[in-house]
Amino acid sequence: LSPLAEVDPEVAAALEAELGRQRSTLEMIASENFVPRAVLEAQGSVLTNKYAEGYPGRRYYGGCEFVDVVETLAIERAKELFGAAYANVQPHSGASANAAVLAAIAQPGDRILGLELAHGGHLTHGMKLNFSGKLYEAHSYKVDPETFRVDLDEVRRVALEIQPQVIIAGWSAYPRQLDFAAFRAIADEVGAKLWVDMAHFAGLVAAGLHPSPVPHAHVTSSTVHKTIGGPRSGFILTNDEDIAKKINSNVFPGQQGGPLMHVIAAKATAFKLAGTPEFRDRQERTIRGAQLLAERLTQPDAKAAGIDVLTGGTDVHLVLVDLRTSEFSGKEAEDRLHEVGITVNKNAVPNDPRPPMVTSGVRIGTPALATRGFGDAEFTEVADVIALALQPDADIPALRARVASLAEAFPLYEGLTSPTTW
Ligand code: PLP
Repeated sequence: LSPLAEVDPEVAAALEAELGRQRSTLEMIASENFVPRAVLEAQGSVLTNKYAEGYPGRRYYGGCEFVDVVETLAIERAKELFGAAYANVQPHSGASANAAVLAAIAQPGDRILGLELAHGGHLTHGMKLNFSGKLYEAHSYKVDPETFRVDLDEVRRVALEIQPQVIIAGWSAYPRQLDFAAFRAIADEVGAKLWVDMAHFAGLVAAGLHPSPVPHAHVTSSTVHKTIGGPRSGFILTNDEDIAKKINSNVFPGQQGGPLMHVIAAKATAFKLAGTPEFRDRQERTIRGAQLLAERLTQPDAKAAGIDVLTGGTDVHLVLVDLRTSEFSGKEAEDRLHEVGITVNKNAVPNDPRPPMVTSGVRIGTPALATRGFGDAEFTEVADVIALALQPDADIPALRARVASLAEAFPLYEGLTSPTTW
């Protein structure tokens, strides 16, 4: 029972360095967040030791009386938070949740229709190297080439042409809300099931700041680790009893063996926290921060440097920066921001003229900084740093100092003496 630092100093040193990186830089990857202490504790707990194949009350292993309590709490809290009749909280990740969803509502070879990957869709929505593109006949709809928004007339046109069995609404890189009722009307018209993947915006939905897909979709999947700010994992919701049964059997035994009970405990805690006024305040600051960033990046000095924002702004937690006419590629912008201490990811823009490993965009998100406590003043400051960093003649040391003082003013995991000990 020796501590990690004694048993494995190499891994301990890497964890220590990662804690230092998280503390000293500004995390603006749109899909990342910082889990609260309570979630870290649940996830780092003795529940990692327990096998619990099956579902609460129906397990294939003995000794499940306490993990049953935990999973039941997670299920009931997910249902209440999102107003769903059924929830499965076992998926290990967003991708495994999505594999179970497709297995439940489609047959191999069926046609599926989702947002094009290069236009903001996700790998699991039909990319050819992913299970979704290999097992199913994947088709895609694109954003409008002028407005960069999803155009429901276009979705309907493609759906009528393809006659898919499944229509997917949801995204990894899109700055606007989707009209789920309109998607459902299209699905009903062509006899398809509507699956909404709310992985990115689930926290906004939980806070009541984004329309909920749950009343409209046949099935809704999500991750817990993006805007919700919980453990890295997935879950699935539905109001349809028949689909709920198929989801359960397609998660276990369909896709997975033993559930990660320590992660399910952390999910239960994350769902509890997501019902609090503090959570709503955080999600409000998240959206407001993204809007301040979009405003700053559309000022004349940014436009003069060839910087723009796709769709002109944002309704959610991220901004898609359009660098098609900038001298910086997405890759160079990512590197430049890294130099000043801000972490983002390069991102292809629709019809990107540069290759996928270079790109002409960056995706910048505000959830992690909102969790750190940022409000209007700090987001205004960080937006200015980003706008200036993307100018060719940027004063890098001065910008790095501004980032360092923001990071110092909002300490992360105060009281955590090592990456694993409070
Ligand atoms: N769905 C969407 C829309 C996502 O953006 C992501 C992650 O980026 C996933 C699913 C997959 O989640 P995970 O990385 O947990 O497999």
